Amino acid sequence: MKRIDLHVHTTASDGSTAPADAVRLALERGLSAIAVTDHDTVSGYAEAARAGETLGVEVVPGIEISTRYEGPVHILGYFVDPASEVLRPVLDWVIRDRDARNRKMVALMAADGLPITYEDMQRRYGEVVGRPHFAAFLVELGLAADVQDAFDRFVEKGRKYYMPRSFLSIERSIEIIARAGGVPVLAHPFQYKLDDAGLRRLIEHCMASGLRGMECLYSGYTAEQSAYLLALAGEYGLLPTGGSDYHGSAKPHIRLGTGTGSLAVPYEYLERLREAAGKQKT
Ligand code: AMP
Ligand code: ZN
Ligand code: FE
Ligand code: FE
Repeated sequence: MKRIDLHVHTTASDGSTAPADAVRLALERGLSAIAVTDHDTVSGYAEAARAGETLGVEVVPGIEISTRYEGPVHILGYFVDPASEVLRPVLDWVIRDRDARNRKMVALMAADGLPITYEDMQRRYGEVVGRPHFAAFLVELGLAADVQDAFDRFVEKGRKYYMPRSFLSIERSIEIIARAGGVPVLAHPFQYKLDDAGLRRLIEHCMASGLRGMECLYSGYTAEQSAYLLALAGEYGLLPTGGSDYHGSAKPHIRLGTGTGSLAVPYEYLERLREAAGKQKT
């Protein structure tokens, strides 16, 4: 059976693997295709696509947009046009908002005497800099044992270096993904700690804005949980998707392709997404 991974982060956001290296790893793992789904950016796609051409691994352009509903909700977009004029200004707004927040976080740390500058953070971590990067930096400085510890003590909401940022709404995120030619998908539904009624409310809210798929296979989800999500997707007429949420050494327990164990996403899911996006295989 041809296997794929439709949820992969790279150095374009908070992953530690360069886009081309993620494709090399996919080849090693025997995957037929991956989707690059960086947080709030499509800038990793071009490099991954070039590597994919060379290595014979299909690379799908994707994105994962962080939104707020009652709590955090992530919306994946597949087959978005990376050059879309619709996406660019919106993603630029997200980056500018992050930049303003990051400058404030840097100022708080610098005021405590930490050797950190905004320019250093940009140089080291690129365009989409977030709290995971600050956490990694605090670990490097020896101020925290690991990223989780850095969150718990310094950058989690309410801690001394935390500053809030703004979010796109679910509606707007789904709308811009669709207008950029993509298929909007609800990411990792169990991460929101909702009961069945709550999840159904979220799905129905997203569907009112044009949601077309739901991530049913995901790192750490049991066979029972996946079966429940697949049944729910079937009931609502949503396309099933699946992926590991690979981040490289930033989340070392998650392996590309197989997740935290025996994740196996069938190629068929990609064919259905492609069809929904109205795209031909190239
Ligand atoms: P940001 O968008 O810059 O505020 O960072 C949010 C990201 O930080 C999320 O997508 C998570 O990956 C990560 N994160 C948030 N809270 C925690 C936490 N308590 N422990 C570890 N990682 C977290
Ligand atoms: Zn991430
Ligand atoms: Fe996510
Ligand atoms: Fe993710």
